[in-house]
Amino acid sequence: MNLCDFAPEYIRAIQPYQPGKPISELAREMGLDASSVVKLASNENPLGASPLALDAMIHTLHEVARYPDGSGFELKAALSKRYGVDTEQIILGNGSNDVLDLAARVFLKQGAAAVYSQHAFAVYPLVVQTIGAIGISVPARDYGHDLVAMLDAITPETRIVFIASPNNPTGTLSSAKDLLHFMEHASRDVLVVLDEAYNEYLPEANKTDSISWLKRFPNLIITRTFSKVYGLAGVRVGYGLAHPDVANLMNRVRQPFNVNSIGLAGALAALDDHEFVQRSYALNRAGMMQLSDGFRKLGIEYIPSFGNFLTFRIAGDAENTQKVNQSLLQQGVIVRPLGIYEMPHHLRVTIGLEPENQKFLKSLEYAIGELV
Ligand SMILES: *Cc1c(COP(=O)(O)O)cnc(C)c1O
Repeated sequence: MNLCDFAPEYIRAIQPYQPGKPISELAREMGLDASSVVKLASNENPLGASPLALDAMIHTLHEVARYPDGSGFELKAALSKRYGVDTEQIILGNGSNDVLDLAARVFLKQGAAAVYSQHAFAVYPLVVQTIGAIGISVPARDYGHDLVAMLDAITPETRIVFIASPNNPTGTLSSAKDLLHFMEHASRDVLVVLDEAYNEYLPEANKTDSISWLKRFPNLIITRTFSKVYGLAGVRVGYGLAHPDVANLMNRVRQPFNVNSIGLAGALAALDDHEFVQRSYALNRAGMMQLSDGFRKLGIEYIPSFGNFLTFRIAGDAENTQKVNQSLLQQGVIVRPLGIYEMPHHLRVTIGLEPENQKFLKSLEYAIGELV
């Protein structure tokens, strides 16, 4: 026996999360100039960070010798005002992934279960496995969450249900009607985590007033993030909105300084950068058109998406998908293969700047041509 053999079996069984390939790594591997590489693999904002956030973060650099405000007072006050919730209802996280992890640590234990959809965000099974709890993956319907089947999958042991809307990597959205039906029928003994990481990318007509549901459902937590439309993925700030009692437990479990001072300052400023959010939204809509038109011209099947990315299918066997991915890498384009999502025929591309999307489409056309 060595030390690592004593780690719980459920820890040793965890498959490492595979992030998008960094630009520098690909450039090295392929002998490419890093500046020519286009990374469309991690749903990052192609415009970079909100300029107001950048400014605030640069100023905060001078204060990094001090611990951050562990209560996140200012950011919570701003979120409270923006969303009409009490500050006691807010949990700040080192990215919203941290909030997902806190939910698992507070409500799960060995023998408890969590329900999520097939093809849902990979962090859900990860945080469940870390506790040694049981993960129940419910078959997807047309790539989206089958909320009726997910309701049926709840057992007396189930303590959490994860719902991503829009979901990553499929881009699917659950309707307000279906979500509300789910909330009305799910046991109050089950925490429903509604992950809205891409909320700000939704057209107004598709937005759900999910925050108003918090008043009705003490077992609901809504998670959102500064990583996507606000362009702050690198400084890791996300949050959860929940019943004060739920938030209280989660706040007891979190690391006292889980959100760093640069992130806090950036998020606070980004929240008010309406111009940047609007510009990011508009760029995403235009890029969505550009890419979906491109896919149609190439005869490539794709899943209509409500996020800042599109998932598309390469015809033939899964080996073709790997070949296309490899060819894209050789041409300096990084997208995300979806094998770990049980989607070995698909690839996910993040919507980039107009010329990045164009380079991707040209490279894809070339890669497809190489297959025949
Ligand atoms: C990107 C993403 C997040 C956000 O993660 P952070 O930890 O906030 O960077 C959460 N949920 C889904 C479904 C995502 O795709």
